[in-house]
Amino acid sequence: MPESTHDRDSLYREATAVLQRFYGHKSFRPQQFEIISKVMRGHDCVVLMPTGGGKSITFQLPALLQDGCAIVVSPLIALMKDQVTALIANGIPAAMLNSAQSDAENRQVIEGLNHGHIKLLYISPERLLTEIDHWGDDAPVSLFAIDEAHCISQWGHDFRPEYTQLACIKRRYPHVPVIALTATADRLTRDDISQQLALKNPRLFISSFDRPNISLRVVSNPGKSKRVAMICSLIDKYAEDSGIVYCLSRKNAETLCTDLTNRGYRAAVYHAGLTPVQRDKAQQAFIDGELQVICATVAFGMGIDKSNIRYVVHNNLPRNIESYYQEVGRAGRDGMPAEALMFYSFADIAALQSFIDESGRQAINAEKLTRMKEYAEATVCRRRVLLSYFNEETDHDCGNCDVCLDPPERIDGTVIAQKALSAMARIGEQAGITMLIDILRGSARAELIAKGFDRIKTYGAGRDMSFAQWSAYLSQLLQLGIIEIRYNESNHLKITPYGRKVLAGNTPVQLAKFYYHQPQTSKTRTEPHPSATRRRTETPTPPAELLSELKRVRTAIAKIQGIAPYMVFSDKTLSDMARQQPTDQKAFLDIDGIGEKKSALYWRHFSRAIRKYRGTD
Ligand code: ADP
Ligand code: ZN
Repeated sequence: MPESTHDRDSLYREATAVLQRFYGHKSFRPQQFEIISKVMRGHDCVVLMPTGGGKSITFQLPALLQDGCAIVVSPLIALMKDQVTALIANGIPAAMLNSAQSDAENRQVIEGLNHGHIKLLYISPERLLTEIDHWGDDAPVSLFAIDEAHCISQWGHDFRPEYTQLACIKRRYPHVPVIALTATADRLTRDDISQQLALKNPRLFISSFDRPNISLRVVSNPGKSKRVAMICSLIDKYAEDSGIVYCLSRKNAETLCTDLTNRGYRAAVYHAGLTPVQRDKAQQAFIDGELQVICATVAFGMGIDKSNIRYVVHNNLPRNIESYYQEVGRAGRDGMPAEALMFYSFADIAALQSFIDESGRQAINAEKLTRMKEYAEATVCRRRVLLSYFNEETDHDCGNCDVCLDPPERIDGTVIAQKALSAMARIGEQAGITMLIDILRGSARAELIAKGFDRIKTYGAGRDMSFAQWSAYLSQLLQLGIIEIRYNESNHLKITPYGRKVLAGNTPVQLAKFYYHQPQTSKTRTEPHPSATRRRTETPTPPAELLSELKRVRTAIAKIQGIAPYMVFSDKTLSDMARQQPTDQKAFLDIDGIGEKKSALYWRHFSRAIRKYRGTD
């Protein structure tokens, strides 16, 4: 059934009105409306968008625009509560069912559900699996949203077995659309999501994962005092804003925090060893801007909607690129320049290795750690490494990472790349890295001969280079997105679409020269690519005095209502308010992030502060 322009236009008008009314946003971000309209037409969708990209609206609006209740499956009970509270604060009837609530509370929710009072129900996967059996075939469910959908894939970094049973949704309700959402997924995970959820001809939406405003830097084994000095200089540089330092262990986080507080900085720790009350307190102080920096283990930062985090430091090597990029992505959500700094040492690798050995998923986790380590040691643009990792094609250096700003000596690697690609093509892409190098170097080992790989034309074509050299160059080809590793096919190497262009001779390849001993002797600086600076939007800074008064008002309201300040208004909304200084309620409603309910509730409080500042009170 083709979609008529008329239908589309009227849906667009209706959706925009709801977006303004409940969320106070004027327009959709790229792809949001497309996704909404597909879901509304009953299509299954897979949505890949980076953290902060605006995924929630893509299932919340269809829920609001249709009859019935949307079921949102989410693995993180701690976050569920925040999401539900935030929805209610916007005037949207939402509720949750999970083991963290009392039986009485859960019963009340089911009651509300039966009476059709709830538009969005958040539920844990375990709970859904038991609950769904009690629902009738004609239960008024408008859609199912599967949040953090990468948890379904054993190739992902956060596999959760209970997710693998969610195919029951499609079996039970074949005609209700399912929308799966995640902020981290490579091609493999993405395919796995559609397959395991048994989605029917799903529409795929992939936003760019590029965050050009975040600069990337890695410092290898700096030693403790230099490390602390570098962190201090970041805090000084952004004294009015805040940052996160991720540490591998609680002890590490505590030591660092003590170091920083001793130096007079406002710092706190956040890790799983704290009581829930202590954790809430630290998180709150961070959100309220009372802290400059938080020293945290990985447990920190999920679901925090704080847009002015200016830097994220990794005090140790993270365990995989997915987690790393998710954590980095918490910086600079407002689009203004932000920094990601990572320290790394061999001790980190040893520590991470021991986690892997206990994980029960050794092989895949070891692969992921290897890729992380390669990122740390990258000699090509780090952003290209990251984007290639998520199967996003990149054809230029970013100009905003340490490798781009201080590049190693380059050689023309086109022929090297073509030799490797040609060998891969001739053996039907049926070899891993070691076998490929052996073919290129003309090894006579038994397995190679048995497979007949010695009979291809490129056999021995790379004899002039050592094993170590090939290994370094292949790793660069991987990082540049010219080849990829298929974890689900015995780690065989495959040629990407970009690699095909290289093989066809249409695209030259620059590689960092391989050194036996000391790398890093650089002379030239590359000009940043225009796109590295293009997307940094410049906005005038709001008057600091008014902004802090508005923040005080926000804190007071949050205390009275018992919700987090960012659920009252985000930092961005307050900054806009301080800049625009609305003098009537209509202008107040015009600010991004202010919908009808919040305008009605809060206008009086904020307008008083604005009038006072303008001297019109
Ligand atoms: P994700 O779930 O992808 O991490 P969210 O859905 O939480 O992201 O959205 C991140 C932020 O972006 C929120 O503060 C949200 O209010 C804001 N946002 C989402 N869509 C829009 C929009 N169309 N216009 C303005 N802000 C938006
Ligand atoms: Zn770069």
